[in-house]
Amino acid sequence: AQAEHKLKLLNLLVDTIPEALVSCDSEGRLSQFNEISRAWHGVDIRQCEPELLSYYFDLYEEDGQSVLPFERIPLIRAYKGECISRQVICIRAKGQAPRWVSCSGAQLKNDKGQVLGASILMNDISEEKQLTMMKNEFISTVSHELRTPITAIIGSLELLSNNVCGPLPDKAIAMLKIANQNSKKLQFLVNDLLDMEKLSAGKMDFNMLSCDLRQECEKAVSDNQPFADKFKIQICLLSHQSYILLLDSSRLQQVLSNFLSNAIKFSTTGAQIFLSYRELNGNIRIQVEDKGQGIPLHFHEKIFDRFTQVDSSNTRKGFGTGLGLAISKAIVESMGGNIGFSSVPDQGSIFYCDFEMPSM
Ligand code: ADP
Repeated sequence: AQAEHKLKLLNLLVDTIPEALVSCDSEGRLSQFNEISRAWHGVDIRQCEPELLSYYFDLYEEDGQSVLPFERIPLIRAYKGECISRQVICIRAKGQAPRWVSCSGAQLKNDKGQVLGASILMNDISEEKQLTMMKNEFISTVSHELRTPITAIIGSLELLSNNVCGPLPDKAIAMLKIANQNSKKLQFLVNDLLDMEKLSAGKMDFNMLSCDLRQECEKAVSDNQPFADKFKIQICLLSHQSYILLLDSSRLQQVLSNFLSNAIKFSTTGAQIFLSYRELNGNIRIQVEDKGQGIPLHFHEKIFDRFTQVDSSNTRKGFGTGLGLAISKAIVESMGGNIGFSSVPDQGSIFYCDFEMPSM
């Protein structure tokens, strides 16, 4: 009777948890499926024939579209010994709005190490998810709406500065120059926002073609040397060998320009920066090295996050949005590569990307 009382108490406790709890026993049979779980799935799985479950609900990956394969179900993964930390899945139950839940849990073992089952706790993050989607949509709409007028403004300013409407006094030319520079900053920002949005929605196109790394790097140097010249910085290309890689050339240029312009921005006037590439563990590593101010240790973890800058006031040379490296990371990964860096504060930084060598 005492054991029964304990069990009742336990079930009551589990049912009053404000999150969904599911667990299975050592044979993988579902043992707990608390009240919130039942509400979210629209059924008590324990009392339903497995072939009827899909009548009540379906499980999807975080994108809300791809069906969650059996072996990706958090409780199954935990039962097999994986430690699950914040795996996001989407539950679509009959008659309910899609619900995004964050799942965490692990195998249950007793003190002798014997496996007793597994459990997963899920919490509802649909509201957060919806807010993020709204935010992305908002950024995307605003950027699209801004792009056309900015282009028109820049065009008109350029025509005016070229005296298309007749000669202008020097003071007016000076003001036009300021207006032009600032509109260009706005244009960069809008383009970065649009790129970021496209990349995170998987909508950016990649035109993967064979390109010669030597030519690509030469182009990156000649495109970025004018910006470097403003600070008497020299970009040195250290490698000259030809390597043919399958990449989208203009996207690679975007990444190299981001690395190079950062190296320029964070070096002292008159410094040199180095662009090179080499074979490394079956990959090709392309890297940009500078001897500039480096990156503070506390910042290392966040460097590839969106809108992160060590301290916006130290971006002396021009401007930045803190989006460049986040975009570069997404581009490199979309082309099958890896991005990384190493940096010693006050001594300099190396930013690199690795791409697989084509098999001969
Ligand atoms: P942005 O340059 O537009 O601000 P990035 O995403 O390209 O954005 O860079 C984010 C931040 O990382 C920079 O603002 C800077 O603080 C730091 N950073 C990037 N590259 C370097 C570098 N080579 N040396 C020192 N700091 C760097």
